[in-house]
Amino acid sequence: MSKALNIAIVGAGLAGRLLAYQLSERNFCVHLYEANKLTLDDKPQHLSAAAFTAAGMIAPISEAIEADLETYWLGKTSLKLWPAIIAKLNLNSEQPVQYQHSGSLIISHPQDLAELQQFKARVQALPAACNAQFKSLNAQQISQLEPDLSNHFHSGLLLEDEAHIDNRQLMKVLLQRCLANGVELIDNAPVSIAGNSVMRRHSKQYFDWVIDCRGTGAKPQISQLRGVRGEVLRVQTKEITLQRPIRLMHPRYQLYLVPKPNHHFVIGATQIESEDRSPMSVQSMLELCSAMYSINPAFSQARIIEQNTNLRPALNDNKAKVIVDKQQLSINGLFRHGFLIAPAIIDSVINWLEGKDNPHQQHLFSFSESLNA
Ligand SMILES: Cc1cc2nc3c(=O)[nH]c(=O)nc-3n(C[C@H](O)[C@H](O)[C@H](O)COP(=O)(O)OP(=O)(O)OC[C@H]3O[C@@H](n4cnc5c(N)ncnc54)[C@H](O)[C@@H]3O)c2cc1C
Repeated sequence: MSKALNIAIVGAGLAGRLLAYQLSERNFCVHLYEANKLTLDDKPQHLSAAAFTAAGMIAPISEAIEADLETYWLGKTSLKLWPAIIAKLNLNSEQPVQYQHSGSLIISHPQDLAELQQFKARVQALPAACNAQFKSLNAQQISQLEPDLSNHFHSGLLLEDEAHIDNRQLMKVLLQRCLANGVELIDNAPVSIAGNSVMRRHSKQYFDWVIDCRGTGAKPQISQLRGVRGEVLRVQTKEITLQRPIRLMHPRYQLYLVPKPNHHFVIGATQIESEDRSPMSVQSMLELCSAMYSINPAFSQARIIEQNTNLRPALNDNKAKVIVDKQQLSINGLFRHGFLIAPAIIDSVINWLEGKDNPHQQHLFSFSESLNA
């Protein structure tokens, strides 16, 4: 066996944890640095990773109507990769990660039907190679699929080839598996990176590779990087059961409601060009609550468990990038698509480290290029 490469991963958010786990399953020696203090019962409100705030939708078609085709293909590849990742993580696990490939339901109120029709037209306009399939639904079909929706939704679309994941449980289990596989975790450690070294207070450590997964924390090094504010509510009610994410088309905002374990629902999300991490505004709260109420008035009795604000890490073109500069590699710009595209990106990075080809390299990788240029 060749000598294990000594790899530092900086940032234990989604990209960092998934990469650390996948590398630790192979012949790599992994050190994972994280700015925050981590515990295995991660208290999300104290953590800055966007991965904890996210809704965990894996929705290539829904996102493709706004995003580029490269993101779509990374999403389609990831949809194929997630089941094997989850099956392995869930082996002998007492608290399995919930992953459901039950599609997404797109609806609008009757007065906003034009929005739904526009969504449908955009899906139809995707290139034929995308094979973006949907089913048009009438009121009866909608209520068969989701009996707990209000009965005033007369038309909708079912995008069957979409999934959603319990992102917080995933983050927890990934960390558990990393530790069990011998990954060295250095938490409570906001570090900086220079080439293939990691600097912390007065110490500097060198590695074969340093992989930057700091999300918006990489701003000092990547000037193109920006944070895009997103606000979500987490509510709890036993009155309502949903099988899949519901996306509500609306002239001013497009909101979604995603079912989570323990009768929790995530409702979100705003998308505001601002790096303000302050608590949710009254306007956003009103919009999220009224959308939720219009999906089913029984939500009025739901309990608000959390209101969360976080920043999506985005580059100029809102596309994810892997930047290779000598022995430093940065994975960033996952924007609103981290769960959608991370498995394909991490696979590409591992193929790169192992000297193998990968189909996404051409669009995803930049070499010896400073994004500050
Ligand atoms: C409201 C909202 C909803 C979303 N919903 C979805 C969704 O439904 N589907 C989807 O696919 N995506 C969604 N996303 C996007 C997804 O969460 C992000 O794309 C993803 O989390 C980015 O992963 P990352 O690892 O790059 O960054 P993060 O998950 O933010 O992790 C970065 C980590 O680096 C650490 N760090 C930062 N600086 C340092 C430093 N100097 N030293 C050490 N550690 C450092 C941070 O503490 C953090 O733990 C959503 C995001 C938001 C905000």
